[in-house]
Amino acid sequence: MVYRIYNFNPGPATLPLPVLEKVQKELLNYRGTGMSILETSHRSKEFGEIVEAAEKQLLELYQLSEDYRVLFLQGGASLQFAMVPLNFLSPQTSADYIITGSFATKAYEEAERITQVNIAASTKNNNYRNIPRQEEIKFSPSSAYVHLTSNNTIYGTQWQYIPDCGEIPLVADMSSDILSRKIEMNKFSLVYAGAQKNLGPAGITAVIIKKEMLEKASETIPAMLSYKVHAKAKSLYNTPTTFAIYILELVLQWIKEKGGLQAVENTNREKCSLIYRVIDKSGGFYRGHAAPEDRSMMNVTFRLPNDDLEKDFVEGAAKEGLSGLKGHRSVGGIRASIYNAMPLEGCEALAQFMEDYLKRNG
Ligand SMILES: *Cc1c(COP(=O)(O)O)cnc(C)c1O
Repeated sequence: MVYRIYNFNPGPATLPLPVLEKVQKELLNYRGTGMSILETSHRSKEFGEIVEAAEKQLLELYQLSEDYRVLFLQGGASLQFAMVPLNFLSPQTSADYIITGSFATKAYEEAERITQVNIAASTKNNNYRNIPRQEEIKFSPSSAYVHLTSNNTIYGTQWQYIPDCGEIPLVADMSSDILSRKIEMNKFSLVYAGAQKNLGPAGITAVIIKKEMLEKASETIPAMLSYKVHAKAKSLYNTPTTFAIYILELVLQWIKEKGGLQAVENTNREKCSLIYRVIDKSGGFYRGHAAPEDRSMMNVTFRLPNDDLEKDFVEGAAKEGLSGLKGHRSVGGIRASIYNAMPLEGCEALAQFMEDYLKRNG
């Protein structure tokens, strides 16, 4: 057995072991071609099949119809912060942004470079501990779209409902919870996700876009920033990150083999409950950052009574093969990122470590 720790890093993050093993096995001779997929032309039949399969599987997993397209783009989720307003806004139009954390703020700031946009709701005053309720969101009827961040990776909150935006198209950054649960994807007009949390390696971003939305995209912006250009070229306008797309496709297969989104969600619920349960029964030793009703299944954030204990906790955990638990500098404390590829055993090991640590230090 190969030596593997439990990797709780927020991204790049742990990948499914069967996927890594398959990559290793196929690395030198990809399916009888006598060369590595790393060396294969993006215009080849082999690679064309991979992109097609990835698009098809992603749509299937979300039970999306012909009304949607999938694009694989570069530049991370951060480029999507800019591409969304570049494609759908002009200085004469506006959009609604819901600010629930750092990445949501960055998305908003990129839109502000194009035009003045509205903050439809913000939980900043509460240090992003919660997600706004439907009645707290002030939509502007003339908005080109509403933008939200479905899971707030740094603060550890997650939307538990899809807001009703009426006729306004809904756009979501799902970088840190894509494919983690069953969700009515057909309520969204555009969803993007950097791959390095739940989809695969860094360097590739998936965009799921409704054709109706694609129709509205700008035609006057530079080609590399244009959804229309990438859609027309089936994500092969220029040389894409072929290796990352190949691994992403293997991750999609792995999810299908696990039983699809409902099965993955059930496991994710069980995984996060193990850790939240220890927090809740610790008598205040562990303090969760997120409001309990808005807790994330993907990023569990909590504090210990002081900085020294937090440092000691992270170091002690690492010695037991539980790595990457230090929280983001803006929240402090501990963050356990438990994306799809984190096995249940990893969460059991962390919960056990937390209980033992509390006994020793509580
Ligand atoms: C990690 C993350 C990003 C940033 O992604 P990059 O690929 O580094 O640009 C954006 N949004 C969310 C929600 C994230 O978790």
